[in-house]
Amino acid sequence: MPEINGERVLADLRALKALAPYEGGVHRPTLSPEHVASLKWLAAELGAIGHETKLDGIANVFGISKAKGPKLLGGSHLESQNHAGWLDGPLGVVYALEAARAIAADPAFADCGVDVISCCDEEGHFGNFLGSRSSIGDVDEAAIDSAADRTTGTPLRRALAAAGLAGVPRHVLDPKRYVGFLEAHIEQGDWLEANDLKIGVVTKIVGIRQYLITTEGMQNHAGTTRMAIRRDAGVAAARIAVAISDHFPGIAGERTVWTMGRMAYDPGAPSVIPGGAELVLQMRDPENAVLDRLEVAAKEIVADADKSGPCRASIRQTRRTEPAAMAQNFMDAVRDAAEALVPGKHVDMPSGAGHDAMVFSAHMPAGMLFVPSIGGISHHWTENTSDADIVLGARVYLDAVARLLKAAR
Ligand SMILES: [Zn+2]
Repeated sequence: MPEINGERVLADLRALKALAPYEGGVHRPTLSPEHVASLKWLAAELGAIGHETKLDGIANVFGISKAKGPKLLGGSHLESQNHAGWLDGPLGVVYALEAARAIAADPAFADCGVDVISCCDEEGHFGNFLGSRSSIGDVDEAAIDSAADRTTGTPLRRALAAAGLAGVPRHVLDPKRYVGFLEAHIEQGDWLEANDLKIGVVTKIVGIRQYLITTEGMQNHAGTTRMAIRRDAGVAAARIAVAISDHFPGIAGERTVWTMGRMAYDPGAPSVIPGGAELVLQMRDPENAVLDRLEVAAKEIVADADKSGPCRASIRQTRRTEPAAMAQNFMDAVRDAAEALVPGKHVDMPSGAGHDAMVFSAHMPAGMLFVPSIGGISHHWTENTSDADIVLGARVYLDAVARLLKAAR
């Protein structure tokens, strides 16, 4: 069997962290100089094992194996959220890199290869999975023209030019080349840690639905308007939020989560009765049937509020991503690998966060595995995983890759 070098995996992750240090974590937003340095680091490492490397026109990195037989695509992303953790993304890229090295070095797998991809902007500084979507031909030039950094406002075109990528063609993968895509990631929650488990076998990536709920009342003076005649849009929005919070637990699935992460009043002043309000509702679940049920309930709550007055209320969907099922043979390979290396210490589980594997799963078999996150913390610089769990995850990843390549011979 091919073997990973655990010390090298840890050294690679620390090298990537050292390119963008921030408070023990990293600050590596998409196309920042630190991000571009990490992409060049990866391309150099892939070149060193004889892979053909490309840093393409949307800052995806590809390492392409010259093997003639079965090939697997592995990877994740290298950019971070602002002021965030060191493992969200790089873990999956380094596992794929190490698996590519191990497969390339094993004469028993001489015919096989692991191609590696670092998908640009999984973290959504500029858009919605632009890198992975571009790599399967699902992003047009107009989408790049219109994208801008959500923090700085810098247009994507200008950021790409600053990285030396203006006019560089974008590389599109041929899904038929691969047995499929395997992504490792930190869990970003505390399910594994809380249950003393080491590996999560991802079954599905949740679907996400988002809605804008709007209420409309009458803006007026907070001191002179009698309570009885007020049409306070802020109170109406708050009532809807409470009704949703009270009603959803009774109809939600076991893994459903919902968030009302933004409420805004118009005009939002202490001495003015709000004339309008906006409430954003987001919900996630691995099953469309559950999301359908919640959507019906949310619409009923808003319709009831609209009917009973005194404010108007409406709801419209602003985002929908479908739940993505992982391929059965990929789930089996990860589960068998985990059972071989840490018997009984793995669990099948959905992913509550979106990942590039979701994009690839529509075009080729795809799978994911999770390693524990200490305290379930992520998108924060204290995000961490123990060295032992990082190394174990890399072993499980390579074992699963070897199983999938063997089965494809
Ligand atoms: Zn990530």
